[in-house]
Amino acid sequence: MSIAVPETAAWILARLNARGHRAYVVGGCVRDSLLGLTPKDWDICTSATPEEMGSAFSGCHVVETGLKHGTLTVVLDHVPYEVTTFRVDGAYTDHRHPDSVTFVRDVREDLARRDFTVNAMAYHPQEGLVDAFGGQEDLRAGVIRCVGDAERRFDEDALRMLRALRFASVYGMRIEDSTALAIHRRRCDLAGVAAERIHAELSRMLCGKGAGRMLREYHDVITGVLPWLAPMVGFDQRTPYHRYDVWEHTLRAIDAVPPTEVLRLTMLLHDSGKPASFTLDERGVGHAYGHQARSAAIAEEALACLKTDNATRDRVLLLVAHHDMPLSTEPALLTRRLNRLGEEALRQLIEVQRADALGKGTQPPEEIEARTAALREALDTLLAQKPCFTLKQLNIRGNDLPGAGVPAGKAVGQCLQRLLEEVMAGDLPNEREALLARAREIAQHL
Ligand code: ATP
Ligand code: MG
Repeated sequence: MSIAVPETAAWILARLNARGHRAYVVGGCVRDSLLGLTPKDWDICTSATPEEMGSAFSGCHVVETGLKHGTLTVVLDHVPYEVTTFRVDGAYTDHRHPDSVTFVRDVREDLARRDFTVNAMAYHPQEGLVDAFGGQEDLRAGVIRCVGDAERRFDEDALRMLRALRFASVYGMRIEDSTALAIHRRRCDLAGVAAERIHAELSRMLCGKGAGRMLREYHDVITGVLPWLAPMVGFDQRTPYHRYDVWEHTLRAIDAVPPTEVLRLTMLLHDSGKPASFTLDERGVGHAYGHQARSAAIAEEALACLKTDNATRDRVLLLVAHHDMPLSTEPALLTRRLNRLGEEALRQLIEVQRADALGKGTQPPEEIEARTAALREALDTLLAQKPCFTLKQLNIRGNDLPGAGVPAGKAVGQCLQRLLEEVMAGDLPNEREALLARAREIAQHL
């Protein structure tokens, strides 16, 4: 078994070896290489102390990232490599950060502080794989297992629980029993973890192929982090349109939508307002009138709690609020939707409605796919004709209007808006002369 270590990373190892230090590539890059994936980055661990690293890489472009924790970043060909001294962590008092770190001489001690067996392997081109905790076997069997006692490891650092869910989701692996049990028992400790870190792990988990499975098995963990979601679990919709409860529907919709953060968060939150909007009619059938707006309000709180960036938040809120907006292949309707949402969000909405429909489990999937394909095609055809759906695309400007008899001020905006609506409806060509003529007519009735 050999791993194709990039030349630059191998150069760093050799440079350290030449000075009598041990050095390995370690962690995620070893795991991903063994899985046949291309590692995102190559981390290196070494017996060299920070001072020894400093002198080994004098003359190189280095960044003193976290020297106190033993990390030096060496930049080669514009690629940063994190080189970290073998270390063990001191006591953890905040369930997240070690109070101190101690540098050690043996790579095995360094591997023992790492979170999961699949992440606790090191590799050296001549020495081969250092796998002290059965990482290779767990990787083959598709198992996420803590290094050492799971409860203790999660007690030290609560974020590891979400990392376990993330790795299991992304790689389609299962979480070993005692690790899983410890996650359920320790889940409350996540309350103390920084929102940014929770957000990062949760997003990657949601974008993994096992997202629905993880949320099903660990709903207690997720509703601990986002309590607004708790009423969805097991909530019976009592309607012929839905085969599953709100949570199960949500999970199926998540798995059915393309794995981008915006779309996955949208599906997670799209029906979150259903339990609070629920009513039963006289026939005993359930309804959730207005749940879209309630879901958007919940989504706003949940995304604030996760501290998502504004662009992600705004897009998710738009899609949640409009997830049931009627769509059809009719060009005039699609043009109005383009005006309301813009091209990108409309394309996303088509995906949201597809996933929502698939998650209901009551419509034949072929019908849903056919409708989706028809919508995508109608939108492509429409866009190829360069339709006008914004004021900016109108072949007339606000300052053309006073000349056509529209008084300066508020009336200009109102008139432009009317012209745009008539153009979008197909009642008026988007041509300067026709627009001016129509503006003159409108002006007479102002
Ligand atoms: P990816 O880069 O795909 O997120 P990774 O495994 O490289 O995966 P990083 O967060 O980059 O994850 O961490 C690098 C390595 O550091 C991990 O493989 C693991 O060995 C160790 N590690 C990271 N975070 C923790 C943690 N919270 N507790 C223990 N070890 C950790
Ligand atoms: Mg990494």
